[in-house]
Formats: sequence, structure tokens, C-alpha cells
Amino acid sequence: MYGQIPDSHKKDVDAAVSAAKKIFPVWSTSPVELRFKILNRVAELIEENLEELALAESNDNGKPLWLSKSVDIPRAAANFRFFATGIMHFSTESHNMEDKAVNYTLRQPIGIVGCISPWNLPLYLFTWKIAPALAAGNCVLAKPSEVTPVTAFLLSKICKEAGLPDGVLNIIHGTGHGAGEAIVSHPDVKAISFTGSTKAGERIAGIAAPKFKKLSLELGGKNPVIIFAECDWDKMLTETIRSSFSNQGEICLCGSRILVEESVYEKFKEAFVEKTKALTVGDPLEPSSKQGAIVSKVHFEKILRCIDTAKQEGGKILCGGHAVQVEGRCENGYFIQPTVIEGLGPNCQTNQEEIFGPVVTLQSFKTDEEVVHLANASQYGLAATVWTRDISRANRVAAKVECGIIWINCWMLRDLRTPFGGLKNSGVGREGGWEALRFFTEAKNVCIQL
Ligand code: NAD
Repeated sequence: MYGQIPDSHKKDVDAAVSAAKKIFPVWSTSPVELRFKILNRVAELIEENLEELALAESNDNGKPLWLSKSVDIPRAAANFRFFATGIMHFSTESHNMEDKAVNYTLRQPIGIVGCISPWNLPLYLFTWKIAPALAAGNCVLAKPSEVTPVTAFLLSKICKEAGLPDGVLNIIHGTGHGAGEAIVSHPDVKAISFTGSTKAGERIAGIAAPKFKKLSLELGGKNPVIIFAECDWDKMLTETIRSSFSNQGEICLCGSRILVEESVYEKFKEAFVEKTKALTVGDPLEPSSKQGAIVSKVHFEKILRCIDTAKQEGGKILCGGHAVQVEGRCENGYFIQPTVIEGLGPNCQTNQEEIFGPVVTLQSFKTDEEVVHLANASQYGLAATVWTRDISRANRVAAKVECGIIWINCWMLRDLRTPFGGLKNSGVGREGGWEALRFFTEAKNVCIQL
């Protein structure tokens, strides 16, 4: 532990709601040009403070510094820039009833909204929610994960410097059950955008749904990676290492169930295990570390328990499967060797439950039908990846896999305009582009008789 945060509760949320209520009439009617200017300035300041923010993110989360610098912090700036410019181009519909009437849709800010985010991509996901909510003219109560709160705190200073009026963005630190539930259950918070575990999502939906709050839930995943024999082999191998172990496998989009066509299964296994063994696990601040630390002791122990379960289920550990003792500054840190497991069927706990760490399983398949069945044998439906040179096959499989996001011959290639989210137990609703601005506004139809 290297810092402490306030354990906020209902009274802090009440104070934030009062501050938000005071400024809402001003902020919600402010010209979009002003909102653009302030939010774009936030983006610039994030970029100007990249070194400090990246270091804070790595120290807090355990992710390699090169990753914070190249992905997390640049994306946080991009989120603000994207929605700052987006609101300048946001338009609404008009429906003409020939000579009878014309309808137009107003999209008005909802009021006070709650944004709650997890620890795996702290500033990246925090800003992905806050930026569209603010751009659309709402006041926001935002709670970062209590496990990784530092960059959210630094963001509050940046927002002040950028000229965001007091009360527009209220960053509330604390636990899920304390501050989080106080936000979700507050009667004046009219919408909740949540990213986190399916379990917490279920709890939040249980509180918010009977109060008829608008809900966007981005939850867990157990994503399949489908590898056909005719794929671009070298590219597939490099990217599958990335999709398996980036950020220690702590990305909701990581592929954790690797499904390989039988004719190349042994070839894949050998090459993939060799590459996995070569990944350097170490001090997140060392440029040579490909894998950093697991975010917390609790999560570290959970991942090791999952590996034990895999062994008990009859899984064969092909590499990894244990903690790593790192020397020097990080000798007391929580490190796990990237782990590859084979020999488990689709219905076992290891292939059903989200591990959210550097652990993947391998399964083989013979036909397109079989692989679609394996891919869909999950309570989750967030993302999937397909590797093939046969474009018709890619399109056929893409249409049949139950998920919200599917990458063909790539992974985590993100265009912020595209709909982002999952189905089944991976969530409800979509983020990204106009979807986010629509979520953070209420549509009102105005009908004028001619
Ligand atoms: P978590 O659900 O434990 O916590 C997420 C956030 O919700 C934290 O800020 C936490 O304090 C808060 N929270 C927890 N319980 C709450 C409650 N009852 N009421 C209100 N707030 C509550 O998740 P985590 O461990 O921080 O993150 C890992 C999970 O997030 C994984 O399941 C991962 O798949 C998921 N995730 C999903 C996406 C996506 O886009 N679908 C992206 C990243 C992470």
C-alpha cells in the first residue's frame, strides 16, 4: 500500500448531488462550443501530463509502464477529444408526415448521471464514460475503482485547470458497496453507466431497475479466439500472444478460450507455448518486462485458485501455472507466469468462469459448426477473434458467434465510432460513438401539425 483514499458514503454522494444540481442548469444549456473547448483542453492536458499519469497508472495497477504510455493514457486523451468533437457534430432525427405534420427529436441531457469503472484500464475506462456524459451536457458523479484511484484523482486537477466548472464532474472515491451503491441508489441520479464484473452488474441492475434508471452495463467476458488452418500463421501467432496476455490478461477483451482447427493444433500448441515461455515477467517500470504485476493480492490469489481448479478438473498445464518471484524493488509483488492449459472441455469451470488473468486454454475443433458451438458455449458474449484467409468463412462465422464485438485477423483494433459492448451475461447496451451520446441524452419527440 502506498496511499489512502476517502471511504465515501451517502453523505458525500448527497453533497456531490447538491453541487451538481446547482450547476446543471448552467452546464446543460452551455453552448456546445464551450463544452468542446473545455473537454478538448482536458485532452491536451492529459497529453501534456502523459509521463506523470503513465507512471501513476503503472504504480497503481502493476501494468508495464510502456503499456500505460502507449495505450492507457493516450486513449484517455483520445476519449476526451473524440467526444469533445463528437458533440459538435451530434444531430437528431426529423420525421415528416407529408402534408400533416413534422416531428423532430430533441436530445436533452438526462441530468445527473453516475459513472462507475473498474481497475484494469483505470483512466482509459473512467474517461470513456465521463467524456460523453459531460459532452452531452450532464453533470456526473464518477467513481473509479478503489483498487486504482490515483489517475482519477490526477484527472480532477486537470479538469479544474481546463476550466470545467465546479460541480459538473464530481469524483467520489470509495468502495463499491459504500460509495458505489450510494451513487446507484440516489434518487436524483437518473442513469448509471457501469463497467465491471457481471456479479456487481447484477447487483446494480437490481437496485437501479425498479427505480427505472437508464442503465448501461459493460460486464465480464470469456472470449473465444478461433484459429483456422489457412490463417496468416505468423501474424496470428504474434497477435494471439497479445490477445491472451496483454495487461497480464486483465482486459475484458482478452481471448481466454483458444479454439484451434485440429489439423494445426499440435503445430500451434508448440509454437504458442514457446512464445509464451519467452514473455518476461518483471518490474513494470523495466522496459524489458512484457508482463507486469497482478493488480492486487486478492486477485492474485483468485487467479492461482483458478489454476488449481483447472488442474483438479484434469487440465494439463503446458507452461506457467505458478507465481513468479521477482527480485529487487518488486520482490513482494504479485506476479504470475503466463499459463497455457489443454485437455479441458467446454463445460468445465475453467472454460466457463472468467479468470481475468494470464491464463488461457486450448481446445481443438474439426468443423465450422463445431467451432461456432464451442465459441457460443458460454454465459458470456463480449468479444471474439477469428483467424482465417477465407473471407466467406470469416463472415459466416462472424454472423453466428454470439458476441458484441468480433475481430477478423486482428485484435483490439478500435475505432471509437463503433458500437462497443456485449450480450448475454456480458452486459446491456452499447458504448462508443453516437450510441454513447444517445445513452447520455433523453429523446423527446416534438410533433407540429402543419
Ligand atoms: P468490480 O465489479 O468488482 O468493480 C467495478 C467497479 O464497480 C469498481 O469501481 C467497484 O468499486 C464498483 N462496484 C462494485 N460493486 C458495486 C456495487 N454493488 N454498487 C456500485 N458499484 C460497485 O470489477 P473489477 O474487479 O474492478 O473489474 C474487473 C471486471 O470488469 C471483470 O469482470 C472484467 O471483465 C470487467 N470489465 C468489463 C469491461 C467491458 O467493457 N465489458 C471492461 C473492463 C473490465
